[in-house]
Amino acid sequence: MNPQCARCGKVVYPTEKVNCLDKYWHKGCFHCEVCKMALNMNNYKGYEKKPYCNAMEQCSPAVFRSLQMEYSMCIQVAEDEDI
Ligand SMILES: [Zn+2]
Ligand SMILES: [Zn+2]
Repeated sequence: MNPQCARCGKVVYPTEKVNCLDKYWHKGCFHCEVCKMALNMNNYKGYEKKPYCNAMEQCSPAVFRSLQMEYSMCIQVAEDEDI
């Protein structure tokens, strides 16, 4: 059974699946919460289970500072899943 997209709630098939922040996303739905910029596994930052872009410092400076630690944690998880 395929998971549902955390953004739009529709089924996510393996070819379009992004698995991050303990959720599944369509590639097209995995975009910055603030500016809607398209993201991928290599350039997003996670905060409170939502993806943000690398321009967070401009998007939402208040969130940006507390975001640094969680970002590195999520990268660790992603590497473990590849093994
Ligand atoms: Zn979606
Ligand atoms: Zn953004």
